[in-house]
Amino acid sequence: AKYVYTWGAGKADGNGSMKALLGGKGANLAEMTRIGLPVPPGFTITTEVCTYYYANKRTYPAALQAQMEAGVANMEKIMGTKFGATNGMPLLVAVRSGARDSMPGMMDTILNLGLNDQTVISLENSTNNPRFAWDCYRRFIQMYGDVVLGVQKREGEDHEPFETVIEGFKHEKYHGDIEDSKLTADDQKELVKRFKALVLERTGKQFPNNPWDQLRGAAGAVFGSWMNDRAKVYRAKYNIPSEWGTAVNVQAMVFGNTGETSGSGVAFTRNPANGVNEFYGEFLINAQGEDVVAGVRTPEPVLELKKQMPKSYAELLKVRATLEKHFKDVQDIEFTIQEGKLFMLQTRNGKRTAAAALKFSIDMVKEKLIDWKTAITRNPADQLEQLLAPIFDLAEVKKASVIATGLPAGPGAATGKIYFNAERSVQAAEKGEKVLLVRVETSPEDLRGMIAAEGILTARGGVSSHAALVARQMGKVCVCGAAALQIDYDKKTVTVGGTTYHEGDFLSIDGTSGTVYAGQIKTAPSEIIAGLVNNDAAAKATEKFKSFTQLMKWCAQATKLSVRTNADTPEQTRIAVAFGAVGIGLTRTEHMFFEGDRIDAMREMILADSLAGREAALAKLLPYQRDDFYGIFKALKGFPATIRFLDPPLHEFLPHTKEQQMDLARKLSIPVEKIMHRVHELHEFNPMLGFRGCRLGIKYPEITAMQARAVIEAAVKAKKDGIKSKPEIMIPLVGFKKELDLQVAIVHEVAAKVFAEQKTKVEYSVGTMIEVPRGALTADEIAQTAEFFSFGTNDLTQTCLGMSRDDSGSFLAPYQEAEVFKKNPFASVDQTGVGQLMKIAIEKGSKTRPGIKLGICGEHGGDPDSVKFCHKIGLTYVSCSPYRVPVARLAAAQAAI
Ligand code: PEP
Ligand code: MG
Repeated sequence: AKYVYTWGAGKADGNGSMKALLGGKGANLAEMTRIGLPVPPGFTITTEVCTYYYANKRTYPAALQAQMEAGVANMEKIMGTKFGATNGMPLLVAVRSGARDSMPGMMDTILNLGLNDQTVISLENSTNNPRFAWDCYRRFIQMYGDVVLGVQKREGEDHEPFETVIEGFKHEKYHGDIEDSKLTADDQKELVKRFKALVLERTGKQFPNNPWDQLRGAAGAVFGSWMNDRAKVYRAKYNIPSEWGTAVNVQAMVFGNTGETSGSGVAFTRNPANGVNEFYGEFLINAQGEDVVAGVRTPEPVLELKKQMPKSYAELLKVRATLEKHFKDVQDIEFTIQEGKLFMLQTRNGKRTAAAALKFSIDMVKEKLIDWKTAITRNPADQLEQLLAPIFDLAEVKKASVIATGLPAGPGAATGKIYFNAERSVQAAEKGEKVLLVRVETSPEDLRGMIAAEGILTARGGVSSHAALVARQMGKVCVCGAAALQIDYDKKTVTVGGTTYHEGDFLSIDGTSGTVYAGQIKTAPSEIIAGLVNNDAAAKATEKFKSFTQLMKWCAQATKLSVRTNADTPEQTRIAVAFGAVGIGLTRTEHMFFEGDRIDAMREMILADSLAGREAALAKLLPYQRDDFYGIFKALKGFPATIRFLDPPLHEFLPHTKEQQMDLARKLSIPVEKIMHRVHELHEFNPMLGFRGCRLGIKYPEITAMQARAVIEAAVKAKKDGIKSKPEIMIPLVGFKKELDLQVAIVHEVAAKVFAEQKTKVEYSVGTMIEVPRGALTADEIAQTAEFFSFGTNDLTQTCLGMSRDDSGSFLAPYQEAEVFKKNPFASVDQTGVGQLMKIAIEKGSKTRPGIKLGICGEHGGDPDSVKFCHKIGLTYVSCSPYRVPVARLAAAQAAI
């Protein structure tokens, strides 16, 4: 088998498309060589060797050594040097890791490999530059000692051991008062001696002298680093499978540290932070690449090269243009200039912020570098929310201290004074304070506090917990499940890491990353929200706004899957429509009772122990619902509205504390004992699997009747006012056709009554949620009654996995770490399990009712991977919270390209 791919002198075994085998770095080095750029020769040891290495107790395939020798010989021929030469110029190499995507956390680079006590002399003699030769050797021992031999900071040590030796020496000889670059050849020689002694002391072994031992050791360190903790954590975070493995790149050294006509730099072909089309980067004269990133010396902006090395700069600009033209994307490059001659050491697609990605994509279409469809793919859907979110001032975030992390549940940045209940939050907000609502978990009572707050922080709950979905729906910043927080409601404090924060103290949360910071951090709103939602003219004039709307236009052209929204109020609807939603996929009617007195009527209804009591409460609820539906129809401008009938998990709606119970008793003028008794009666061990969904309407048909009346009356009123509406009534938690039949009969009966009363008719349809496995498995039967399906993947996930959506926070992290599943199944559809239920339901449902309208309204409807999956399995639409509509639109368009 071929394990080694060489490149050099315009020829390469590999090319840019072979990233799986050669890693990103190796593939692009081959590609750059092929297009004639000045790349020092080298070879890549493939990712298959990494796989072999782990499958065979960390050993190598037998054929590898000979292939590596051939690779070294190829470099020697091109460079005119010799690996391990004791006479004449020795070949020195750089060894670097190279996964498919570059991965911080893995071994990075070892430079100057091949030096030993003999070859350093031949380097000195052939360059006639002793200071340079010994500087290289000293650097090599330091890097190799650190990375390969593990001579690193131990517990209790403040500095890296090699740095400690350097500092000690500088102090001894120069009283500490000298820059590294001013050290003489003799100084470096002395450091080499001390470094070797350090290696011996720390490892019990001599520093390896044989260049081939060095090379095998370095390759082993690269493969070994694939499984180190940092790399594993990074892979988990970005869903990189451990099977991929890394490649190893061995490349002939060129030297940026030979003197004042040499240097090293890193650059982006355009600005990766704001997207501006300017050459952006930094360099250091008389330095090796590592110095630029290490931060020991302060590098200069790459534009300065124009003055200092005009010829090389001109050459570099040419390379910049060639690279962009060839790769058709912004590149992140490393280069070295050796005595005025430019060499390219790396190129890759540059990592970028969402704002930069947007600008790059729009600009490159204008420049005719890419077409509009490619532009759509250049904007990562999971990053798009960055553009909508208020942001922290980057410089300030660097200074801030992280006190906890939780789940990134509502993107954006929020800073404010902490308050521990809704009441106090509202009061503080009314006084003009910026508020962070901090709760163990949230419940409907908190809603007012959530509205008043800039952000919401909870110690418990997952990404589909109540706090999270309500926050997202409102566009609130939210971090939930920050388990390290110890919240004491009585004392009004939160304690974390030994520090206690009191009511009114400042905290800041980043709902895009899930980070909690101490203190206050400055924020700014997004122009896109200001333009689309607030109709702010200045915001609309910004380039960012224009680019964003252009991108959304392209998305509309490409997409097959349409995007609706989960909205419970006319305001949320208005926002979603402004973002391009073409209807409501889910109105949770129980959410309409979160506000003010409404929850009292709702509680009265739940707690009533007689038909008369319930009907009295329902009569209070009816006008609220009718008005809300009317408002929503109006905001929808003729788009359809899927209205889901009551599905209140009882634990979310019952008054739990004595205080709440007394309060309610007063309002209803009944003894508190009666309420306590009823709450006790209604207590459920498993409320999520309890008395909710259509079970409510089957036991109490009058509830369904009231809701049907509210919808139909609202639609009739809208019609009379000249407003078009398309109500789609949706029955939740259906597992049996009979459940749906019973509910649908009530709806039709009430509708007929209203039509007779009002002497007019409106169109409406009745369908169901598919959110329990039995519903999916018997979809053929259910579709006889249901006119449409909408997948409630929150409950479908909960019931398919047998995993509570409210309690999974406590074991999700270890599950993801152990790779039981790669992504939180409540955030991104479990395609193999839950996805299979969906496919079954689609197939069976379509057989009974060809062309049945299919949607999804679980939280997954706004997750890019899930949206792509929904496209693939043939859904009609996805529905998500208003602020995720653009994300879903982008993902849906990408799925169609
Ligand atoms: C669902 O279960 O996916 C759903 C949308 O309903 P809810 O989240 O209200 O239970
Ligand atoms: Mg549900």
